[in-house]
Amino acid sequence: MMPGQPIFILKEGSKRESGKNAMQNNINAAKAIADAVKTTLGPRGMDKMLVDSLGDIVITNDGVTILKEMDIEHPAAKMLVEVSKTQDQEVGDGTTTAAVLAGELLRKAEDLLNQNVHPTVIASGYRLAAEKAKQVLDEISIPVTDNDESLLLKIANTALNSKSASTSKQKLGEIAVKAVLQVKQIRDGKPYVDFDDIQLVKKQGGAIDDTQLIHGIIVDKERVHPGMPVVVNNAKIALLNFALEIKKPEFDTSIRIEDPESIMKFKKQEENILKEMVEKIKSVGANVVLTQKGIDDLAMHFLSKEGIYAARRVKKSDIEKLAKAIGGNIVTNIDDLTPSDLGEAEKVEEIKIGEDHLTFVTGCKNPKAVSILIRGGTEHVVDEIERSLVDSLHVVASAIEDGKIVPGGGAAATELALRLREYSAKVGGREQLAIEKFAEALEIIPRTLAENAGLDAIGILINLKKEHAEGKKTYGVDVFKGKPADMVELGVIEPIRVGKQAINSATDAAVMILRIDDVIATKASSGTSPPKKPGEESKSESED
Ligand code: ADP
Ligand code: MG
Repeated sequence: MMPGQPIFILKEGSKRESGKNAMQNNINAAKAIADAVKTTLGPRGMDKMLVDSLGDIVITNDGVTILKEMDIEHPAAKMLVEVSKTQDQEVGDGTTTAAVLAGELLRKAEDLLNQNVHPTVIASGYRLAAEKAKQVLDEISIPVTDNDESLLLKIANTALNSKSASTSKQKLGEIAVKAVLQVKQIRDGKPYVDFDDIQLVKKQGGAIDDTQLIHGIIVDKERVHPGMPVVVNNAKIALLNFALEIKKPEFDTSIRIEDPESIMKFKKQEENILKEMVEKIKSVGANVVLTQKGIDDLAMHFLSKEGIYAARRVKKSDIEKLAKAIGGNIVTNIDDLTPSDLGEAEKVEEIKIGEDHLTFVTGCKNPKAVSILIRGGTEHVVDEIERSLVDSLHVVASAIEDGKIVPGGGAAATELALRLREYSAKVGGREQLAIEKFAEALEIIPRTLAENAGLDAIGILINLKKEHAEGKKTYGVDVFKGKPADMVELGVIEPIRVGKQAINSATDAAVMILRIDDVIATKASSGTSPPKKPGEESKSESED
């Protein structure tokens, strides 16, 4: 080989970016993602309309929904989508915040890279800063208990502020708080909320304000026979997961019956079995039967004659929720059914909503599962109300699980920035610069809240920092009055978990992206070839 001749380790035409170039591209992609969701942040943020190739539309303000729906290709950009998803899974709120913060951490890192600070130094500085930031969050947090309903309501409302549903936030907030408190359990001596215990049922139509909390469960089934009562008061409900039918033999069998009399006898026998089942149900005192499986026509007839309300093919998850709501047991065999298996509800009623007939099981005494019926003018509204409710349910649950809240509206972020600057001086060395940049990056939250409200963001930020320097830790951006104000007084508060998780995932993503100095396409890059199958020999492996 001639000296100086380039050595190709990748197949011709393979895509590879390395060094500064790779890093710059990754940072740019991540910043682009952050900028895309930035305008939705806060109560005065805008919504996005997402249109897919089939023309289906989603209108939302929810960061994670926007990022999930966007058709993103760049690998580094995808990592920011992951940040948002993690935030959503872990805490259910703060998805925009997390993505915006990650983008800003990278923007600030760029300044340092331009000053020739090595990425690993930035990474370790950012890690130190994140640890310190979470510690400070703990220090400035305010305790909350599940008795403090008015405070919990403020937490729910803060999450709802930024949604298009904010005009109904009082009502939706109350629903969220009541639902969470109703299903809250104690595990290991600590409050715990299982979201499986809260059923969300969306029905297009009516107004947002018709959305209601039901102390019971909505079953998406109608009664099986028109002769059955439409309403049953003081319902005693049997939950079954077997069919009220004659058991079919497991193998194909044929029975030869010779004379008409025997046929009659055989039919009669079948009838008797079904009749006995219904009699058994009646004898234990049930006036409602909900089964996961089928009900024979004849059984329907007998049930209806006894005045028993019955619905069939109820979803397994609904039957399980019902058991928790009405305090009954799911019975697997008719012989096992006893009066103590029955659950109770004030009322079981078939209600027609739009085109659908539903069974409402309501007025349960102390239900451990509840339902929220979501109403709204159009499908898009109902969907956005659901997303908003999910956010507010999550923040209320996080608040009572952790027992700690922090002021929102950029107050916590501003305080963290202040404290990190003090801390950076103590750390010294090259990391000091990175910690200072981390502090600057946090200020993107109050700055964006102000920008989105059409305010003079720089002016507000200067005033806000002044207040914090004077010890007013709870001051954030009052986006309606356009000046710094006490967020606790305004009731703008958030569970600590939202902030901690945003710091965690934003830092993780930023650090990971910063450490990449080589982006190599790991498949033949003709552009059209399918992705490499596992096990297939890689022809484009790099050696560094
Ligand atoms: P995310 O997806 O990150 O939750 P949001 O659009 O819900 O984004 O905006 C959340 C931000 O809005 C939080 O920083 C929160 O503190 C702030 N916020 C909510 N209500 C108010 C308010 N009334 N005044 C100022 N900031 C608010
Ligand atoms: Mg939010």
